[in-house]
Amino acid sequence: MIPILDSKRQYAQIGDKVEKAVVDVLRSGSYILGENNKEFSKEIASYLDVKHAVTLNSGTDALHLALRALDIGEGDEVISTAFTFVATSEAIGIVGAKPIFVDINADTFNLDAEKIENAITPKTKAIIPVHLYGQPCDMDVIMDIAKRHNLYVIEDACQAIGAEYKGKKVGTIGDIGCFSFYPTKNLGTMGDGGLLTTNSTAINDRVIALRNHGGAIRYHHDEIGVNSRLDEIQAAILRVKLPYINEWNKKRRENAARYNELFKDCADVQTPVELDNTYCVYHQYTVKIPNRDEVHKLLLDNGIGAMLYYPIPLHLQKVHNYLGLTEGTLPITEENTKLVISLPMFPEITPEEQKQVADTLIACIEKTKSKVSA
Ligand SMILES: *Cc1c(COP(=O)(O)O)cnc(C)c1O
Repeated sequence: MIPILDSKRQYAQIGDKVEKAVVDVLRSGSYILGENNKEFSKEIASYLDVKHAVTLNSGTDALHLALRALDIGEGDEVISTAFTFVATSEAIGIVGAKPIFVDINADTFNLDAEKIENAITPKTKAIIPVHLYGQPCDMDVIMDIAKRHNLYVIEDACQAIGAEYKGKKVGTIGDIGCFSFYPTKNLGTMGDGGLLTTNSTAINDRVIALRNHGGAIRYHHDEIGVNSRLDEIQAAILRVKLPYINEWNKKRRENAARYNELFKDCADVQTPVELDNTYCVYHQYTVKIPNRDEVHKLLLDNGIGAMLYYPIPLHLQKVHNYLGLTEGTLPITEENTKLVISLPMFPEITPEEQKQVADTLIACIEKTKSKVSA
């Protein structure tokens, strides 16, 4: 069995350090918003080259507190993509705003920047581009539209820590960046965790208050906040892991290049496209294939842990029924939802395993084709 991700291999590399860091926290008696949170905030702000980094309980909280900090809520519209994990649009719903879904670019799977402008109304307050699979969005075009229409940009960089657009880390280009440390992310902790980044001191201060019951000073509450603190154990683990992120992302890129090479003579497998001037970090290695559902089943039967990200686009999810969007509203999103499949991808996957994944995928596609023609 070759899994989509094998976290145990990474643990074998850093487990000793993680265990020491965790025991140190246990013995310290300081478990919430202590030294590790403080230091990790500084370290990751420096890594990303951004002024402020606020540690939070999850990427979902980063997204919804980003909207809160910008006073976006009831009666407002936020433009985003339906080709993403539900947390992106969920955050818009949590604050009472309305998600406006715009179609994607078929090559990058990211928001089609050209189509954003048509979706803008007097109610539009922000755009949330998602750097899906670790692939940076075309930020110049998005920032230009935002500037011309006076909109905020909140980057969902949950899958893209370390990815770059024109030499800048994603999540530091818009007004706010949102990151997740969910265990399967490129920088994952051993529980839940998230981060909000910004170059605005006002936004930083507001989110610091919002994450801790709406007050910067203990027992002084200025507004309704939440409890979204990152605990010290998770912060300590992240401090151990952060120094490895560049090396891990580099390995993901090498593995992606190896897959590309393995598929180069196979016209049925459409490999990922990289935009010029971007550094993709391959949170997923996602290809497009024919007879996708059948091939997916065969792959699983043959011990290849391929996954579908995501099987149902957000505008067709029950939670969004109230928007009245039916099949056909976002044709590129819908078409690609039926074509994509993500293959095992993690820094430690071996060339032999990748060869086995590629050979099996090609064989499975052939099998479904002969069945169709028979
Ligand atoms: C993981 C993820 C989130 C949510 O992060 P959590 O930490 O799980 O709350 C949001 N957006 C995208 C694109 C993600 O992949």
